[in-house]
Amino acid sequence: MFSLMANCCSWFKRWREPVRKVTLVMVGLDNAGKTATAKGIQGEYPEDVAPTVGFSKIDLRQGKFEVTIFDLGGGKRIRGIWKNYYAESYGVIFVVDSSDEERMEETKETMSEVLRHPRISGKPILVLANKQDKEGALGEADVIECLSLEKLVNEHKCLCQIEPCSAVLGYGKKIDKSIKKGLYWLLHIIARDFDALNERIQRDTMEQRALEEQEKRERAERVRKLREEREQREREQAELNGTSSLAELDPEPIIVNPFQPIASVILENERKLEKEKKRQNMEKDSDGGPLNHKVEHEQIETQSQISDSSQKNNELGIVENYKEALTQQLENEDETDQRSSESDNSKKKTKKLRIKRSHRVEPVNTDDSAPKSPIPPPPPPPVGWGTPKVTRLPKLELLGETRHNDFYGKPLPPLAVRQRPNSDAHDVIS
Ligand code: GDP
Repeated sequence: MFSLMANCCSWFKRWREPVRKVTLVMVGLDNAGKTATAKGIQGEYPEDVAPTVGFSKIDLRQGKFEVTIFDLGGGKRIRGIWKNYYAESYGVIFVVDSSDEERMEETKETMSEVLRHPRISGKPILVLANKQDKEGALGEADVIECLSLEKLVNEHKCLCQIEPCSAVLGYGKKIDKSIKKGLYWLLHIIARDFDALNERIQRDTMEQRALEEQEKRERAERVRKLREEREQREREQAELNGTSSLAELDPEPIIVNPFQPIASVILENERKLEKEKKRQNMEKDSDGGPLNHKVEHEQIETQSQISDSSQKNNELGIVENYKEALTQQLENEDETDQRSSESDNSKKKTKKLRIKRSHRVEPVNTDDSAPKSPIPPPPPPPVGWGTPKVTRLPKLELLGETRHNDFYGKPLPPLAVRQRPNSDAHDVIS
């Protein structure tokens, strides 16, 4: 009764254990029978298998273990990749072709190399002395002796089990019992020291990945340097040949955003115009007297009242030219006024004109009797923005007060405006 209870407890304990993922690496010389063994374990027919070129991976469930076995190619050239799988391996399955005595030395060296690797030393190793069905195959003891197995595993502190077997005898459930036994043993050892092993594997895996990253970066750096050197050589060669290098022919375009906000463009234009205006004022201050400055200032003010926008356009130069011409004409008129100061009436007129002049844009020659200026009149005002008002329109009379003369000059009766009742759309003139 007590033993029954104990069995139940241990079963329950095992049932509660979490599933453990275990990775194993299967190595050995080419043609040793690794793939045949892997297929047999997986439940596939192991004969007529092609030798592993790169690697193959098999997954199987064994009790509480989810086992992944990396079957790595054993060719001389490919053995270098084995070490990339050592970090994540919990144990090793080493397959030996027991029928090939000639390659025992090579097998021994290869095994030694595997066991002395820092990421393998101390991990459990299962040696499968395969092809026992073949005639003349070395027995377990001979294999141990040929490989100096005892010495090797002791040296590298690896727990070891050797199983004489044949991978082609059966597969799946009918797989050679020695293979099954050896696999159980390996998993048992791993389970026993799982925590310690797991910790080591996590650490080793991280280091390995960091190393791989480092190697990747170094490789990229080497490639970059090589490319730079090649491009430098090409440039030098192109200079020697007197031709432009590709980079010169196709320079990297300067990227400028063509879509600027309109507010910033206007602001920029205004700033430029202000600067230009100040500069011109300063020039005129130094060239002409205070009168010149005053008249021009008046002109500028008047113009600015007419249209602010005219100062903001790019035709400022045209407007300024026109202003200069106006200033000249005003000066001439001033001289004329002084000369015709004989009569008081004409004096008053001139005064009136001067007062008016400060409020107008265009000089209008109102005094026909005044002598003609030797300087030609200013050019016609430019068309477009900045064009000042040139002529005054005659005062309009009210429509109701409009009178017309008939053909003989006799005045006609005034026009009457009649609006339609309840309508402001049209006026009817009768
Ligand atoms: P690997 O290169 O280590 O993967 O070797 P393979 O699994 O490809 O096997 C190489 C050859 O040996 C194949 O032709 C297999 O059929 C054969 N072979 C593998 N195991 C055994 C075995 O136990 N007995 C016999 N007689 N032949 C085997």
